[in-house]
Amino acid sequence: MSRFFNPKYKDLKPYVPGEQPQDHVYIKLNTNESPFPASPNTLAYAMEEAKRLHLYSDPTCAALVKKGAAYYGVAEEEILFTNGSDEALVFALLTFCKQEEGAVFADITYGFYSVICTFAQVPFTKIPLQEDLSIRPEDFYHLNKMIFLANPNAPTGMTLSVAQIEGILQNNPNQIVVVDEAYVDFGAQTVVPLIHRYENLLVVQTMSKSRSLAGGRLGVIMGNRELIADLNRLKYAHNPYNVNRMTMGAGIGAFEDEGYRKANCQTITSLRESVSKQLREMGFTLTDSHTNFVFAKHPQISGGDLYRELKKRYILVRYFDEPRLTEYVRITIGTSDEMQTLLLQIRDILENGVSV
Ligand SMILES: *Cc1c(COP(=O)(O)O)cnc(C)c1O
Repeated sequence: MSRFFNPKYKDLKPYVPGEQPQDHVYIKLNTNESPFPASPNTLAYAMEEAKRLHLYSDPTCAALVKKGAAYYGVAEEEILFTNGSDEALVFALLTFCKQEEGAVFADITYGFYSVICTFAQVPFTKIPLQEDLSIRPEDFYHLNKMIFLANPNAPTGMTLSVAQIEGILQNNPNQIVVVDEAYVDFGAQTVVPLIHRYENLLVVQTMSKSRSLAGGRLGVIMGNRELIADLNRLKYAHNPYNVNRMTMGAGIGAFEDEGYRKANCQTITSLRESVSKQLREMGFTLTDSHTNFVFAKHPQISGGDLYRELKKRYILVRYFDEPRLTEYVRITIGTSDEMQTLLLQIRDILENGVSV
């Protein structure tokens, strides 16, 4: 830290992204990216926009907003695109979270929520998940804090029903509830239509996972007109051109190629089911995942040991050195071939033990 570093950031705890080693070609099952390239239109439109990189991008994202609004069934004033959904989460926190109230989320959830709270210098509270790692909705009633809910949750992959989320919305009428639907396309129900019924609801989605655009950085946030207008106040005070030209083109192409997204999601969810079945047969216990990853533990080997052993075999998975999670690994669903290699290697590790 230099002597010029602003002391107000001295307690900042940066997010630690999943590793991206360059020393070897790994089978990457650690950051929940799609194993499939972006769709043909996505790539074609991005390349087309590359020819106009000397011109600023449209700060209103008009063409993309039009596509997105039609896709989600919302008005154009009810949707805002961001530089990845991480930016949507930051905008929401900065716009609506009051210093004296703070924010609240589950103790086991997307790690970025606590990171952005330390950045924005708002206090936060963590609500423990139940023993089976599910969320008890009543634990989120009457908290008088801004609420962040990942649905499906990460890294458990488990879902809340629409009725359970409505319960949380109804019992926090004076607080914004952000529902982060990063994985919704892999088997959960969206609450986007509820933005017309609950004035305190914001829904965040990302193009990173189901639309193969992790490297393009495109997220979206939806809510009633007033909330979106407020978010725009922050956006224009911070980064008016937050979505670059190529990404805007890519996003338009992605919405046009809905069939491609659906087919990929179908492939990934059916592979998730067959991989889950095979892991169970090997003695693993899995959470009920509705995402593009599984969260699994085995009585014979800790999450850390399994992670290290797989890494030696050039397969990357994610493990969490945190209370209640040390037994688990989180494994992204890759291609069919990648999953076969993974299962083969796990079987070998379980049969022959951990090497020294
Ligand atoms: C991946 C992820 C995000 C962030 O995705 P972006 O790439 O920033 O759009 C947000 N929330 C959850 C729960 C995620 O897993």
